[in-house]
Amino acid sequence: PPFDQRDGVIWFNGALTPWREAKLHVLSHGLHYASAVFEGERAYGGKIFKSREHSERFRRSAQLLDFEIPYSVAELEAAKDAVVKANGMQDCYVRPIAWRGSEMMAVAAQNSTIHTAIAVWDWPSMFDVETKMKGIRLDIAEYRRPDPRTEPSLAKAAGLYMICTISKHRAERRGYADALMYDWLGRVAECTGANVFFVKDGALHTPIADCFLDGITRQTVIELAKRRGVAVFERRIMPEELTGFSECFICGTGAEVTPVSEAGPYRFEPGALSRQLIEDYTRETHRHSEG
Ligand code: PMP
Repeated sequence: PPFDQRDGVIWFNGALTPWREAKLHVLSHGLHYASAVFEGERAYGGKIFKSREHSERFRRSAQLLDFEIPYSVAELEAAKDAVVKANGMQDCYVRPIAWRGSEMMAVAAQNSTIHTAIAVWDWPSMFDVETKMKGIRLDIAEYRRPDPRTEPSLAKAAGLYMICTISKHRAERRGYADALMYDWLGRVAECTGANVFFVKDGALHTPIADCFLDGITRQTVIELAKRRGVAVFERRIMPEELTGFSECFICGTGAEVTPVSEAGPYRFEPGALSRQLIEDYTRETHRHSEG
């Protein structure tokens, strides 16, 4: 069913609300001027992975958009747990969102109420390991991640997803699973909802996350690789260099770790390190839910 017509409850401004009643008015600043920030998280075995990190990023994203989420990290943690539980979920996706309300409807909206909601839904792992190991195909996006001087790059802000949706639609229209986006200087950046890594001579290479989202999965993968003694280079990567990498994978809360077989003209062979990191990431997310 469509997302507004489901059973269950949504945490809405502090209360568990019947799913279909969690509505907002059409004259909401968040809708017209994109004064909205959100998170995307996953629960494994009823426990949200890296929940605190997501709550902290959620509050930081709002601050970058000049508003304050009216709940502390501790309150957000309790609210997320409550909504996962109230919906009887074990493995699910968790979507907190905060936006400016309707008191002011112009660019300036300092006195608007900040609304906060948290929904959860079933979103199974996109692929099993064997399917994943074939690798997905990436288009090259026509839009680039903007110069960090032109927008708050590190915020998970609704407005920044306009470029991602356009790029993802174009990629799917052309038969690809997703699009690889370059940054404003033409360097490799990320995908439309996931970060990207490359493998060369047993080491990981990934772009520096200073003009796009520094994913919590990205940080986890870096830590998992280092734990295995794998060297990790966060550096500028030009598209021409992609011919020199043997493996490529994307990672994010939704995508988890997903190998890539091609990106535009560049070809990769999903291999041993990708497989190892898929296993490590799966173990890490499940270990956390048992611990
Ligand atoms: N980049 C973009 C544009 C994303 O939407 C996401 C998913 N939130 C990511 C990267 C990965 O972030 P995370 O690992 O925190 O989910």
